[in-house]
Amino acid sequence: MRLLRNRSDLDFLQSVKRDHELVLVPTMGALHEGHLSLVEQASRWGTVVVSIFVNPTQFGPNEDFASYPRNLDLDLEMLRSLDVAAVFAPETSLLYGQEVGVTVQPGSRSAGLCGDDRPGHFAGVLTVVAKLFGLVQPDVAVFGRKDAQQCLVIDQMVEDLRMPVKLVDCPTFRETDGLAMSSRNRYLNEEQRIRSRCLVTALRAGRSLLEQGERNPVVIQAGMEKELASADEVVYAQVRGVPGLDVNPEVTGRLLLAVSARIGTTRLIDNFVLEITDNGVQDGSLLGLE
Ligand code: AMP
Repeated sequence: MRLLRNRSDLDFLQSVKRDHELVLVPTMGALHEGHLSLVEQASRWGTVVVSIFVNPTQFGPNEDFASYPRNLDLDLEMLRSLDVAAVFAPETSLLYGQEVGVTVQPGSRSAGLCGDDRPGHFAGVLTVVAKLFGLVQPDVAVFGRKDAQQCLVIDQMVEDLRMPVKLVDCPTFRETDGLAMSSRNRYLNEEQRIRSRCLVTALRAGRSLLEQGERNPVVIQAGMEKELASADEVVYAQVRGVPGLDVNPEVTGRLLLAVSARIGTTRLIDNFVLEITDNGVQDGSLLGLE
């Protein structure tokens, strides 16, 4: 497994691309089993490169950029046992220059949900993803369904800017009690960790209402919010259409149940991607490839 740090190191990837599909898994490090599940699935599509970069531009001024967990040695150790050809861990100066640079502004899919709560977040995400795509030039890029709005916002960028990369979304990897794995779970103390289960409980309640035939999003949202009562703040509990993240008066087809809540000061997100079919409510995917 090679460690790529600067621009000339990236020549290695071009040599790989001559014979193999190159698959990029972008991460911010502090790796957990959720990231590893993405890497495992990525290797089905070709030769895997994992990027590790804590992107400053996607954090708001009062967010956790400074305290975000960083441990490159441990991350490399975790990746060594997997089928990873290279880890790209650039210095900030390789991605951001001194001048005020070009940024990528998100389209309609950034409206609402995390887009409202974290102004500028998706512009930061798109800008760094576009830079990573430019440097690595992957044929395929793999993202987690856990960050559903992020997947859909990136999909809209790739489509609108005609970027030659295929996107894959992978299922959310969970702790045994259902909590979605996240690098931010390590901020939770024991008592908060127990309360953090309310996010998945809320999503299960939303799904159960759908399974009982409920199609009014307002009723489903209220059912999810009720289950978030033990959180310190409900950021959102919403039902949206997939892939456009549109708000519809009645729930049909592919949909996203999305929740975000603060447990202590830690902001957590989770979602279920579902599809209403003639055979009932089934698990769905965001981008159609998995
Ligand atoms: P992050 O390091 O948090 O930016 O995440 C890097 C990638 O891993 C993103 O595509 C995330 O959606 C994905 N990811 C994070 N947590 C999980 C999880 N629990 N299951 C699957 N994918 C995840």
